Order: sequence, then structure tokens, then C-alpha cells
Amino acid sequence: SPASARRHVLLLCSPCMGHLIPFAELARRLVADHGLAATLLFAAATDAPSEQYAALAASVPDGVDLVALPAPPADALPPSTPVRERVVHAALSAVPHVRDIAGSLTSTAPLAALVVDMASVPARDVATELGVPCYMFFTSPWMLLSLFLHLPELDAGLVGEYRDATEPIRLPGCVPIHARELPGAMLADRSSETYAGFLSLAKDAARVDGILVNTFRELEPAVGQGGTDCVKDMPVHAIGPLVWTRPVGVNREPEHARLITWLDQQARGSVVFLSFGSGGTLTRRQTTELALALEATGRPFIWAAKRPHEDTADGAFFGTGRGGDDDDDPLGFLPRGFVERTAGVGLVLLSWAPQTAILGHAAVGCFVTHCGWNSSLEGILNGVPMVAWPLYAEQKMNAAMLEAHAGVAARLNAAGPGNGNGFVCKEEIVSVIRRVMNGEEAAMMRRRVGELRDRATHALAMDGSSTLALAKVTALWKSSISRDEK
Ligand code: UDP
Repeated sequence: SPASARRHVLLLCSPCMGHLIPFAELARRLVADHGLAATLLFAAATDAPSEQYAALAASVPDGVDLVALPAPPADALPPSTPVRERVVHAALSAVPHVRDIAGSLTSTAPLAALVVDMASVPARDVATELGVPCYMFFTSPWMLLSLFLHLPELDAGLVGEYRDATEPIRLPGCVPIHARELPGAMLADRSSETYAGFLSLAKDAARVDGILVNTFRELEPAVGQGGTDCVKDMPVHAIGPLVWTRPVGVNREPEHARLITWLDQQARGSVVFLSFGSGGTLTRRQTTELALALEATGRPFIWAAKRPHEDTADGAFFGTGRGGDDDDDPLGFLPRGFVERTAGVGLVLLSWAPQTAILGHAAVGCFVTHCGWNSSLEGILNGVPMVAWPLYAEQKMNAAMLEAHAGVAARLNAAGPGNGNGFVCKEEIVSVIRRVMNGEEAAMMRRRVGELRDRATHALAMDGSSTLALAKVTALWKSSISRDEK
């Protein structure tokens, strides 16, 4: 291969927006800061790109080649297949495409590494065939990675079900994980396919040559410890927080500009911003209750809302849960008169919100979040204290960590009076928003999140821990090639 060609990193991401966003930022850094070329493959789950995907694809940084791979046939899985299985299936179907693309890339530039996400480790075979390292970019916190790496031994040592455990799981350097905070798949029967799929993802995490984690040492000091920077002989590197800082949205500039103008008119730290990520949905009853709570706080708000879903909290995962284009009143799911009564005080957004721009505005004083890991990191990087409203996946663990370890969030008490079965009543929502915005506890949270923001910013600066960690890995990737070329 021509000596002048930039070494290429091939990145493969399963159909999760929450993975694609930090992957795009990692790819940008590889190109801008490390002299590599990057091709980012997205293992689409459906043929029609979601609004989220389109928004991201329209703002991918220069130098990064984003390619959506063909989705598996629409009838390959029964309609009732859960999200996680769809994701894994799409990632598996991507492998032959990855092989083809890797093959044609190596004819023009030497491949330095393959980087996969937690669902796409089966593509590792391609890296093995080509003799290049396969790394995982883990887009959730170190705490979940640690649980993954320990899961086979926890599983072997457990009698009964995780949900019945009376003692929390204690991982080195992490807050204890109580049964009620475990990822959803661990609360299922251990004999279920759901749990088997989760265990197999966890075992896959141990099959790569190294792991990059989207966290930073100053937030999770135990990351990669338990050797030098290895857990169970697995090299682990904290390279975050990598978040999306680029504009989002196709043809939405005028709408976004109006939003920022509106924020400019609000008092500093006065606005509540609510978002449940790319996939999170609430039931109709919970949506109504939240609307009434917002009204009761009397505070200005921006709510990135989604059409309610009765059966599952990840009802919008593939970009299908936004306001209807098919009904006359896309906001018809809100309580009668709510939009009129809150006109001027609050904004309800139905399309993909420019979340990082909103969080970066000084008017925002509280972020009500589902604790998806990107959102959590964006809250921290923008110094905004959070109300933790976890919905699915590992979000309850993230919420526990943000509250108990980092001290930058307050969790809703879903078990309080009037609550139950995941329902949270108006009084509880109002009270937790107050805790985060007024009084001594709020002042403490603001101070802590400000300190953490400064440390996060430093981790990503020239001599910061995360920058140095990524430089170390890319140096390794480059040197393994020069060895091969000799
Ligand atoms: N996001 C956004 N606009 C929206 C909803 C989400 O820009 O209306 C972005 C958000 O900033 C974050 C990502 O989508 O970067 C969501 O990732 P996260 O890990 O928080 O949650 P997930 O979507 O994976 O549940």
C-alpha cells in the first residue's frame, strides 16, 4: 500500500443513536488530532433513516466518511421482537458488509484498527482475518463495563435471581448496585432469552483487544484499575467525555435560532429542560402528570416530548415515536388547554431537539433526564444539575451514580406516596425540580457539577487524562502497522 496514505480506522456502530453520536465524535478526533482516516459504518435496523439519523448525517464532521449499511430484510424478525434483539441482529447482519468495505479500503490505505460498539463484536472476525486489532468503544459508563466484565463470574456464583438478592453488587470503585437499579435484562429470569442475550454481550466484551470507555478518570476514578489499567487482563482506556457539540438538524436552523432567542430572554438558571433521549417514552397518564407538574412549578421550560407509549419505555428507539405527522393535532396527547396555558412560559418540541445547544445556554438551570449516558455527560460538560428520571437499559445505575457518587443529580422517588409501577405523581416531580433549583442542596449540586465540568474539560485538553489515553492507543495502532510493513 502507498506509504503516503493515511492509516485508516474502520468504526462499526449498531443502530443506536446513543452509540452513533459518541462514535462520530471519536471518528472526528481520530481524523483531526491523530492523523488517521476514519470510515464510520452504521448498521441500520430499518431501511428508512430516522429523523435522528438524518440530523446526525447532515452534520458529520469533515473528513469522516459515514456509511449506512443496508438494513436486514424487514420481515426477518417478528414485529414483537424487543429493541435489544433487533440491535444485535442488525449488527450481525452487518458483518459481511464490513468485510467487503474493509477489503476495499485496504487496497488503498493500510487499516490500523477496527472499532466496534458493545453490540457489534461479531465483526471482530474481520479484524482477525486482516491482522489488525479490534477495539471496543464502550458508550456507557465504566460502572456498566465493570459489571459486564464481572458478569460471567457473578452469574456462575449466583443462586436464584438477581432481583431477589438482598445484598447489592459491589464492584471495585463503584457505588453498590441494588437489585432495583440493575439493567432491565438482569431483572428478567436468568433462564430467559433476554438475560441470555445480555450475558452474551457481556462475554463479548472480553473478546476484543482493548476497550475505550466514554468516561473520564476524574468522574470514575476506578476506571481500568485492578491492575495497571487493566481489568481481567483487558486494557481499558477512559477517553471521554466525547459528546456531540456540532449543530444538529436538517433545515431546522430558523427554528433553532428562535429557540435560542427565547432562551436569551429568560433569567439565568431559570429554565427546566426535559428530554428522555432518542428512544425514551412515557405512558399517556405519565405524560399528562408531567405536563401538570410543569405547569405547577410555574417555571419556564423546554420539553423535548414524544408521543406516549403504553407498553414500553423505549418506544421511540428507532426514531418512530415523535409527534404524529398522521394526526391533525400532533400535540393532542397533552392535557387539554396545556399548550395555551403555558404559551410564552414553556416550549414543547416534537422534533429532534438541539440538546447540547440548549444545555449550553446559561438560562438552563435544571435538566430532567432519563440518564442515558450521553445525556448525563452533556449535563456534566455544561454544568447543569439534573433530575434523574431513568427509564430503561442501565439508566437506573447511571442515576444512582450521578446522585450518590457524583452528587450532581437528584432521583425521583418512584416509590413515594401516590407513585407505583413506575408512575411518578405531580407532587413528587414538582418537589424534586425544586430540590435541584432552590435552596442549599441545589447550591451544593450546582457547585459540584461546576467542578466536574471543569475536570471534564481538563480531561479533554491537550495534556488531559483522556487525550493522553487516546494518543497512547492510536500510537499503538500506528506502530503495529509499521511493524507489519517492515
Ligand atoms: N438528543 C438530541 N435531541 C433530542 C434527543 C436526544 O440531540 O431530541 C441527543 C442527546 O443530546 C444525546 C443523545 O441524543 O447525545 C441521546 O443519547 P443518550 O445516551 O442520552 O440516550 P439514548 O438515546 O441512548 O437513550
